[in-house]
Formats: sequence, structure tokens, C-alpha cells
Amino acid sequence: MRLFLSCCSLLALGLAAPLPAQEAPIPPPPIAAVQALPGEPGVTIIHAGTLLDRPGRPPRRNASILIRDGRIESVVDGFVEPPAGARLVDLRDRFVLPGLIDSHVHLTSDRAGNEGFMAGFTDSVALRSYEAAWNARKTLDAGFTTVRNLGSDDGITLGLRDAIGRGWAIGPRIVDAGSAISATSGHADPTLGVRDEFHDDLLAGGTTCDGAEDCRRAVRRQIARGVDVIKIATTGGVNSRIGLGLGAQMFEDEARALIETAHLYGRRVAVHAHGADGINLALRLGADSIEHGTLLDDESLRLFRQTRAYYVPTLSTVNGYVERLRANPEAYSGEVRRKIEWRIRVTGQSLRRAVPAGVRIAFGTDAGVSLHGRNADEFLLMVRHGMTPMTAIEAATVNAADLLGLSSEVGTIEPGKAADIVAVRGDPLADIGVLRSMSFVMSRGRVHRNEP
Ligand SMILES: [Zn+2]
Repeated sequence: MRLFLSCCSLLALGLAAPLPAQEAPIPPPPIAAVQALPGEPGVTIIHAGTLLDRPGRPPRRNASILIRDGRIESVVDGFVEPPAGARLVDLRDRFVLPGLIDSHVHLTSDRAGNEGFMAGFTDSVALRSYEAAWNARKTLDAGFTTVRNLGSDDGITLGLRDAIGRGWAIGPRIVDAGSAISATSGHADPTLGVRDEFHDDLLAGGTTCDGAEDCRRAVRRQIARGVDVIKIATTGGVNSRIGLGLGAQMFEDEARALIETAHLYGRRVAVHAHGADGINLALRLGADSIEHGTLLDDESLRLFRQTRAYYVPTLSTVNGYVERLRANPEAYSGEVRRKIEWRIRVTGQSLRRAVPAGVRIAFGTDAGVSLHGRNADEFLLMVRHGMTPMTAIEAATVNAADLLGLSSEVGTIEPGKAADIVAVRGDPLADIGVLRSMSFVMSRGRVHRNEP
């Protein structure tokens, strides 16, 4: 009844004329349109000593960036005088680059293992929302001005995404997947390790699906919540509290239904996959990115090249595991511990194969398993396992922007894009580690951090 009334009242106002028969259907909105957020009002000039405005091309020396209302208006050589009333930001002693992008985070918490599992039962949604906001702030502090959140229950990060967009909370731009989806017993099954009496309540979130029809429904459920991207798991997970291994755990018709339904609505699909069987299944069906990709084989490399899907290595998980186990050897339950020990042993092997094979790589940490605010640690691991500092920075800027569908908004410092700009002391092209000490962070034209 309400829909009927609002439709008729719009018609009466002349705002919703019926479409002519030959009119083309309205295409799904590109993600960038949803994510074009308002910027800080006013004019700012940045004087950059070294400027890597387009990662992949050599940096320039002594340049000025003009920013108006949170958007980059021009980039010119030399240090120009700020116009009357403009702010001047002096970064002549620093290395300036585009705001960094982490394609795989879980902002809600980084209390993983048994502690994180318990927090899911003891902490209220309200408390967990504040924890997510705190983690978002730490992420922005570290120079990450955009993140893709790949799985959060209770709609916490969907709410946080909108709160940040409205200026009610401080944090990076969030591209959000809502809840991750897997088959029953899979990586997104919330009942694993929980006694049977609680299962009905936990399954009400609709994060599992079995059979093609049910998997279409599961994706549509996330679409209806307003998600930007769909996250699915075709294989088991390291942190899943079950000893089922890390191979494929989904039939082709289920994976196909998930991916095709997401694409029907113009949403990309991020696929959690460790074993080559589940990786190749997803790539053959049109996955947009493979997350973790721990065991790539020759066929995976061929499919990556053929489909141009991105590989998101998430090597930082190993830091989270090692640090947590060092602090508490009982941090993980037995079946999880065995998978973690394996993952630590094989980390980086796939990246070492993917780099020379020409696979497109986007930066992603899986922060939440590792600590929020330590996202830049991933750069060291990427360089240790076969990338150059420049290609690692490209992965966290140009490539990640492309993967997220935000190339017209972020990823380079060019006219028309959001003024998401960061700076460090030292030269990250010579020593990638300097990116771990961010000294300046601007988000949509607003200076969030500037260390003297
Ligand atoms: Zn993850």
C-alpha cells in the first residue's frame, strides 16, 4: 500500500512519468557513482618535494597540487603561490603519493582466534560498531584512504560506510560486501564450533546457501541490503572452526549462480579460495578477484591471464597468526591451528609464481586477521616475495582502484579525482618500509594527519 501511494503521489507531481516502450532499461549504477563522496570545502595547495602522481611512471620533483572542494583541480610543475584565501600545505621535504587502498579488510574487529570467536557472543552490536569505527580510524591514520570490507556480520560496516560518507565518523571510503556467502559447513557458516541449539538464530543471517536457487537468493539478500560487492568462498578457510581442509567446497552450479547473480546486478565478486580446484572453478565462472589464492597451479595462472581477474595475496595474515600465537599458544583451537601452521609454511609461494606470469595483483591484507593500522606491513611481504617497490605501490593504488571500480575517483593524483593524498619521509621506491610510517594523510581534501 505504501509503495502504491508513493508511486501515485510521484506521478501526480510529474516526477515519475511512465517510460516510453522503446526506452532502454536503466543500467546498474557503477560503483564509483555510489562512492563519490563530498569533500572538504575550500581551496588547498600542496607543495610536493617528490610526487608519485601516477604510480607505474617515474615520480616528478617539485610540483604543486591544487585542490578545490575536496577534488584535485590541477597538478603543475614548480611551487605555485597559493591564491588569496587558499590553504598551503608544505610537503617540500616529503614523498607524496595517492591515498593507499586495501582491497581486503574486516574492520569490525582484529580480535581473532578464540578471543574473537567469544567476542561475537559477548559484545553487543553497539560495542562492536564502536570497535569498527576505531579500526577505521587506525586504517586512515596508516594512509589507507579506501578499503574494501569483505565480510562483516550485523551490517556494522555497511552502517560505518554510510556514516563516514556523511561525515559522522572518521575513516576510509568503504566498499562493502555485507556478509560473506558460502555453502553450509563452508567458510561463512556461522554455526561452526557452536552447539546445535544456537544454529537457527545464527543461520538467520542468510550467509550460507546450498544449490543454485538458494545461492541466487543468498546474493539477492546481500544486494537488498545495499552492498557494493559480493564476497563468496568456494573453498574452506584457515580460520573456519572445522577440520575440512582448504579445497573446493562448492559445486559448479552453486558457484555459477552466485557469480552470475552478482553480475546481473552490476556487482563484482571477490572469491575467497585457497586450493587450486576452488580458485580455478571461480576463475572459469568469471570471478573478479581471488582472495588468498594460496595454491595457484599452472591452470590458475593461465585463467588469471585469460580473464584478467585480480589476485589479492593477503600475506599479512601470517603476521597476525605468528604474533597471536607468540602471545598465547592457545589462541586458536586445534583444527584451526593445523591449518595456520600450513599457511605460514606456504605463504608467498603463489605470489612468486604469479608475478613472473603477468597476473594482475591488487593489494589486500585481510586486516582483522592481522592488526588494523598495520596494513602497510603487506608491502614488505610483497617485495620479499617477488614484487618491486613500484609494482607493490601500483597494486595498492592504480590496480586496487580498478578492482574496486573506482578508477575515476581514486588511485592516482589527477584532475577530477578525490583529493586522497598521503606522504612519507624517505623514498619508498628505494625502501618500501618507509610506507609503514605515514607522516601526512589527506582524505577528500581534509587533512587528517600532518606530522611536523
Ligand atoms: Zn578475509
